[in-house]
Order: sequence, then C-alpha cells, then structure tokens
Amino acid sequence: MGIPLHQAAKIGSYVMKQHLTGKKRYPLVLMLEPLFRCNLACAGCGKIDYPDDILNQRLSYQDCMDAIDECGAPAVSIAGGEPLLHREMPQIVQGFIDRNKFVILCTNAILLSKKIDQYKPHPNFTWSIHLDGDKAMHDHSVCLDGVYDKAIAAIKLAKSKGFRTQINCTLFSNAIPERVAKFFDTMMEMGLDGITISPGYAYERAPDQDSFLNRDRTKKLFRDILSRGNGGKNWEFTQSSLFLDFLAGNQTYECTPWSMPLRCVFGWQKPCYLLGEGYVKTFKELMEDTDWDKYGVGKYEKCQDCMVHCGFEGTAVIDSIKRPHKLIPLAMRGVKTEGPFAKDIDTSKQRPADFVFSAHVENKLAEIRKAKQKPESVAAAE
Ligand code: SF4
Ligand code: SF4
Repeated sequence: MGIPLHQAAKIGSYVMKQHLTGKKRYPLVLMLEPLFRCNLACAGCGKIDYPDDILNQRLSYQDCMDAIDECGAPAVSIAGGEPLLHREMPQIVQGFIDRNKFVILCTNAILLSKKIDQYKPHPNFTWSIHLDGDKAMHDHSVCLDGVYDKAIAAIKLAKSKGFRTQINCTLFSNAIPERVAKFFDTMMEMGLDGITISPGYAYERAPDQDSFLNRDRTKKLFRDILSRGNGGKNWEFTQSSLFLDFLAGNQTYECTPWSMPLRCVFGWQKPCYLLGEGYVKTFKELMEDTDWDKYGVGKYEKCQDCMVHCGFEGTAVIDSIKRPHKLIPLAMRGVKTEGPFAKDIDTSKQRPADFVFSAHVENKLAEIRKAKQKPESVAAAE
C-alpha cells in the first residue's frame, strides 16, 4: 500500500472509534471543490459545465476551514476545477495541515512549476497529479497535446523538492490493459509515492458520453490490467486493496456516499461527490436530511454503473478494518483476476433518473444576482 503507516494508523483508529461509539454514518475524506474554473476542458469532465458567473465563484479560506471543522474527517482531497487557480490555495492547504489533517491536492499540473514554491513538503501533504495513462492516452483524455509532458515534468519537480507525489488515473472504455500496465510500471520507476485509480463516472453533463464503462466492462478491464502486474502487487496503490478487489469483480459492495462528502460553491452536495441532486448549507443537514435509501446501485438509475472510489473506497476501508482477515489473501496472492465474478446487485427495480441540473444552476445564478444587487440597492437607498 502506498499510504504511509502513520496515515493508515490514524484513519484506522478514527474508523474504530466511530464504530465503537455506534456511529452509523461518518466521513473519511472531505472532498473539497473550492472552485469549478479550470484551465483544461476534458471530454469526460462533469465538473466545469457552468455559466461564467458560477465558474467565477470561490470558496474562501474560511469556508474551507469551516467545512473541515464541521465534518471532522481526518483527510481532505482538494479538487475542482483546477485548485491551483485559487489564490488562497497555499493558505487553505496550510490551514488543513495546522488542523492535523491529511491533505491531497489534486491538480492537472499545468501551473505546478509556477506555484510549487508557495508550498512546503510535509508528511501529511501530497500532490496528486491527474494522469489518465501514457502520453497518447492522457493527451487524448484531456483533449490537449503536451499536457502529459507537463505532468511528468511536474512529478519530477515535486519529487526533487521532497514532496509526497502520487497520480490519480481515471480509466475509460478506450483503455488498453497492456498500455495501462506499462504506464503503471513507468510511474513506479519514476519513484512515485502511489497511484489512485478509478473508472470514470458517467456524468450526465460530460461532453463525451460514449467512453464510460459499464459494470461488467469495468470488472473485465481491471482484471486485465491487474493480471499484468502480479494481481496489482507490482504497483503501489494509495487505495485499499479491497477496493481493487471490488473493481476486479470479487466483492459485492454497496456504496458509502457519506464517507467522502462534497463541499463546493453550491454548498454540501446531496447525496455524493458524483451526483448533485440537491444542496444544503451544513454538513449536519447533509447527514440528517438526505434520504440515503434513495441512492446507490439497484436503487437509482444514475447509480447503475458507478464503481467510483468516492462511493466505494469508503466501503472497502471500513470492510478492511472490520474484517482484516480479508486482506491476507490479497497481500499474499494479489487481486484474483480469474474465475466467476461475485454476484452483483440487481438493478432491475431501480427508480428512474431525475434531471435537476438546470434547476440548481438557475437557483445559484439567482442567488449570485441577488448578492450583486445588494450593495447597489443599499447605495440607492442612501
Ligand atoms: S483537469 Fe479535471 S477539472 Fe479540469 S477539465 Fe479536466 S477533469 Fe475537469
Ligand atoms: S452509487 Fe453511490 S457513490 Fe455512486 S453515484 Fe450513486 S450514490 Fe453516488
């Protein structure tokens, strides 16, 4: 595993504490999107399709600190949009470190060389560079030539300055197992601290709707990749080995969407990082007012093909802490890449999708317009 021991131990004791105090739902990682603006426009991205007024919104330093204080998760993953476009990002990272949180800063790396000196290496701080495969795969995924080379240069720079550095790799239906395996070998040779992988989520607003994987294709793809790396043992993943086992079709898991709750410029997103079905002002409201039984594979059409880390990594982590014996064969033999898949959840009775994106955008725009008018109406009244 590519997670440092002190981090694994802290998260493990946090989970045990929640479990022993009988808490049913608790967060493991705060997913933070302090802005949606990005300097790329990837075809599989479901995060940047907003009008300019929304793309110009930012969570302030204080909003970010309030979010972690409210939810109490031991770790924060900062994404977006492109977080390095946020002027207060170095202070935000430092604020989380000062609160003794593990911080993962996800970036497409385009601005990293310009900004890196605003950050200091720390055992609790990791750069996570967006890299969806080798040069051809990644440049195709981000719809721009030359980004892979920039990301590789950024990884080398960050490592040379003593930062913990990992990559996050999202795979789509065009992934070729041999090339992905070779790419992971190359990443390990570069001395990377870890790899996070996930299949892409079929965002309804992503421009390219044809490249998302369904469940069976995901499982097959991950078996084909992991079998080329000794059941995955050749590579350092910063993920639970049970999550990899799930991706390879060997575990029947329901998602744990509250384990990685999202705070963005709209508020706390209901129910999860991937699905924006509503927004509330506080973490307490998110946990108490979300009808969790309405979501998940087999319950809701938009969840049908989801096997993404932010829904299922939490399930895998909790399972590995409650049933550590399940980790032994994985540590010895790696992930099983042959034989029948574990029985999957029946999706025949799921409820149909609700399409609510436009309504949320309209509400947010009305809120922004109202906030802009306020000073004028005060001035007009004076
Ligand atoms: S770099 Fe990330 S946020 Fe930016 S467009 Fe690509 S997937 Fe979306
Ligand atoms: S399956 Fe779970 S994590 Fe995935 S989109 Fe549905 S609610 Fe979110």
